[in-house]
Amino acid sequence: MTNPDGRFGIHGGQYIPETLMNAVIELEKAYNHYKKDPAFNRELTELFNEYAGRPSRLYYAEKMTGDLGGARIYLKREDLNHTGAHKINNVLGQALLAKKMGKKRLIAETGAGQHGVATATAAALMGMECVVFMGKEDTLRQALNVYRMRLLGAQVVPVMTGTATLKDAVSEALREWTSRVDDAHYCLGSVMGPHPFPVIVRDFQAVISKEIRWQLMQKEGRLPDVVIACVGGGSNAIGSFWHFIEDKGVRLIGCEAAGRGVDTQETAATIATGKPGIFHGMKSYFCQDQYGQIAPVYSISAGLDYPGIGPEHAHLHDMGRAEYVPVTDEEAVNAFEYLARTEGIIPAIESAHAIAHAMKIAPDMDRDRIITVTISGRGDKDCAAIARYRGEDIHE
Ligand SMILES: *Cc1c(COP(=O)(O)O)cnc(C)c1O
Repeated sequence: MTNPDGRFGIHGGQYIPETLMNAVIELEKAYNHYKKDPAFNRELTELFNEYAGRPSRLYYAEKMTGDLGGARIYLKREDLNHTGAHKINNVLGQALLAKKMGKKRLIAETGAGQHGVATATAAALMGMECVVFMGKEDTLRQALNVYRMRLLGAQVVPVMTGTATLKDAVSEALREWTSRVDDAHYCLGSVMGPHPFPVIVRDFQAVISKEIRWQLMQKEGRLPDVVIACVGGGSNAIGSFWHFIEDKGVRLIGCEAAGRGVDTQETAATIATGKPGIFHGMKSYFCQDQYGQIAPVYSISAGLDYPGIGPEHAHLHDMGRAEYVPVTDEEAVNAFEYLARTEGIIPAIESAHAIAHAMKIAPDMDRDRIITVTISGRGDKDCAAIARYRGEDIHE
């Protein structure tokens, strides 16, 4: 899918300062070597299985299927992984790669804190130093995750620039990497940033669709008709799509956070409302204001409120191979409550965006059709916020 220069169609690339070129070239070389190294792959599989708890279950949601009265629904349970989300797949891969490259220090950015916690976890496991950049606003909103990262031995650096949120944390982490390239690896959290990050993160997350494929073959003897996942930067979605891209009969649907609606300013739906642009080292679609500046984005889900989308998704959209649909806060909250009541599974509010779309389309599909929905993470972290959304104040 990628061209040698790291482009996906017109998207992707390496729009970075001269001072970072050596770092990304070194990273690409190392990755191209280790991805073919049987010992590296054995070690990573061992970490996935013994530490993260893979393979994650592909669960037939019988009650939800019966209730909606249409397509058969399977849930890919990434919420059951160690640290409670898909992020550990990417982080274990990158931490192992960094270790092989002789790096002693992991740098990461984090929004809600989920990727920071996952990176701090891998750093603790592998005996590496860890520095996490987090917008000051986010450190206040996500105090529990700040505590978790510190407990795991990481240093958390609050970022005061810009809107003091995720995009500013990414910028700061890139800056820090520039000054520490010799001993540090930047463990990027999604399929974004300059090449080779979108490729590396996608490859480590592709384990999701690899498993869905054989698990569904075992259970149903065939491929799914529709694969649904939520999209922030797009790592759990591309991981869920990857092994089905060549199978033209499989519909791929990414669910973006529409926030209060795509016709309001309070949205994070990049494909629905964004325009092509260049930011954080890549060409892709971004939410922008009338002057082409990155627009402030909003979603009830902290994991989905990034103003861009990974370049491979931008390309899949341009080609018409994958569809991207907006899902509002209200629809996601309804789906969050629905899955809890119907299946006894509390999904991350991010994942609830994908559930919401399955609830929309399943009833109109024949009963012999199959939908898989990726539950990217568990929802314990969201309970207080959802209670607040419903007007109830509970202590965290
Ligand atoms: C971070 C996160 C996301 C969004 O990131 P992607 O790169 O788009 O997958 C989605 N779900 C959960 C649970 C997350 O923690």
